[in-house]
Amino acid sequence: MQIPHLTAYLNGRFAPLDELQISVLDRGFLFGDGVYEMIPVYSRCAFRLDEHLARLGRSLAEIGMDNPHDLATWRQIVLDLVARQDFCDPSSDLSVYIQVTRGVAYPRNHAFPAAGTIPTVFAFTDPLEVPPAGLFTQGVAAVTTRDLRWQRCDIKAISLLANVLAKQQAVEAGVAETILLRDGGHGEENLMIEGAASNIFIVKDGVIFAPAASELMLAGITYELIIELAQAHDLPLKLGEVSEAMLRDADEVWLTSSSKEILAIVVLDERPVGNGKPGPIYQQMLSFYQTYKATVMRRGEE
Ligand code: PMP
Repeated sequence: MQIPHLTAYLNGRFAPLDELQISVLDRGFLFGDGVYEMIPVYSRCAFRLDEHLARLGRSLAEIGMDNPHDLATWRQIVLDLVARQDFCDPSSDLSVYIQVTRGVAYPRNHAFPAAGTIPTVFAFTDPLEVPPAGLFTQGVAAVTTRDLRWQRCDIKAISLLANVLAKQQAVEAGVAETILLRDGGHGEENLMIEGAASNIFIVKDGVIFAPAASELMLAGITYELIIELAQAHDLPLKLGEVSEAMLRDADEVWLTSSSKEILAIVVLDERPVGNGKPGPIYQQMLSFYQTYKATVMRRGEE
């Protein structure tokens, strides 16, 4: 494995990624005790940076950690990191990954460490890999599985084992994503929640449906953007519970994330969705998204 020689950030210091190391006693390593963010950077403009940093602050508050930095300091870290990347031309796109853990503590103990324990703050950038153009016209396949995660999926926690296992099911099935279905229990219908690393929208009879943001899912920055675009262009949209039955009966299914953007799922559990091709509402939304990306995201406007 070759780690690229890119500048990264750890606890106040910028250094090459392949030179940075943390303690084996870091609570991120021992307990998955930390939170993260992934911020797309288009033509060196960090997209919705303040929203991502606000979400990071919220995740920290929800796990009982003080935010180690104010907004201005966070902004500076991200912008410095982007400015230090010289592996790409100014028009290339990047992602900035930020992770904060509850720090290094001894002895190993589930309970929070002593007050004053210094959190570990790590950040690095990578080229932003977007799907090849063909996938936007052909669509992708997906499978479904039971959502085995906890009840606070709105916290962007680094403990992602259930997501990792779900994603691997997609890899082994040779498809792009795994859609998570939460067991309704007590005779209730199963609910469609989100993808292993994406949000899911469906279309039925010209209406776009998506789960309303709740503690059971991560309301992605792209999810919010798609909702805004639907509203701005007067596309019918309903946010609320989406059952497994609605998913299986949909005319169109889409997945969204910062790196996948918006892709049509045209095969679900080996059965075609609708007529097995990206649908008309998808094509409209994709074109709104692409226009927005070219005109707003690349200029650093919000
Ligand atoms: N849900 C989950 C579980 C995710 O991991 C992601 C991607 N990080 C998303 C949704 C999409 O979020 P975003 O649009 O902010 O990339």
